[in-house]
Amino acid sequence: MNYVFAPAPIPFVPVAGSSEGFPVRRIYCVGRNYAAHAREMGSDPDREPPFFFCKPADAVVPVAPGTTGELAYPPQTANFHHEVELVVAIGKVGRDIAVDAANAHVWGYAAGFDMTRRDLQFALRDKGRPWELGKAFDRSAPITPVVPAARCGHPAAGRVWLTVNGTLKQEGDLADLIWSVPETIAHLSKYFELFPGDLIFTGTPEGVGPVVRGDLVTGGVEGVGELSIRIA
Ligand code: MN
Repeated sequence: MNYVFAPAPIPFVPVAGSSEGFPVRRIYCVGRNYAAHAREMGSDPDREPPFFFCKPADAVVPVAPGTTGELAYPPQTANFHHEVELVVAIGKVGRDIAVDAANAHVWGYAAGFDMTRRDLQFALRDKGRPWELGKAFDRSAPITPVVPAARCGHPAAGRVWLTVNGTLKQEGDLADLIWSVPETIAHLSKYFELFPGDLIFTGTPEGVGPVVRGDLVTGGVEGVGELSIRIA
C-alpha cells in the first residue's frame, strides 16, 4: 500500500534483558480493582464485575531500569495523579478465555503508571461521560520493560508500591486484587478478542494522589520491576 503519508511508528516496550521490543497493539485498563482504592474513589468495593477503559497504544512511555524518565505535566489539569499497577502483556490470541487457561495467554509482565487527570476524570464521571480526557491522554502510561513470564512466572502475590520524593504514597499486594489477573483476562476476553501486543493495566492500590512539577515518582511491582519518572 502506498500511504498518503508515512504511518506512525509502532509503539513498543523493550523486553527486559533483551534487545527486542514488545509491540503494543492496545492498552486496556481495569478500574477500581483493589477494595481500599475503590473506597477512596467513593465506590462500594463489593465484587461487582470489573470494568475497563482504554488508553491509546502510543501512550506508553518506556523507562529503562536505573534511569529516570521525564514526563511533562500534561495540559488541562490541576490535579495530575499517580497510579502504580501491574501490567499484563498478552502474547496469544483468544476470546472467551477460561480462567484456568488465562495464564497461557500471558507473554510477560511489567510495572506501569496509569497517570490520570483526576479533575477531568471526576468531572466526566459525574456527568456520565467517557473518561478519555482524564485517562487516555498523550504519554499517560510510563512503563518498565516487559519481563517474560518464562522468567518471572505468573505473580499472584507481591508488593505494589509507589513513592513521591522518597515518601511512600501507595502500597498494596497483588494478592489483594479484587479480580485476579486470570479472572481479569477471562472477563475482558468476553468483550474483546485479545491479541498479542495487548497490555492490561490491572488496577491500583489505595493512596493515589497528586504530583507537581519537579516531583520524583518511583514505583514498582515486586518480582517484576520498578521505574522512576520526574515530572517536568
Ligand atoms: Mn488505574
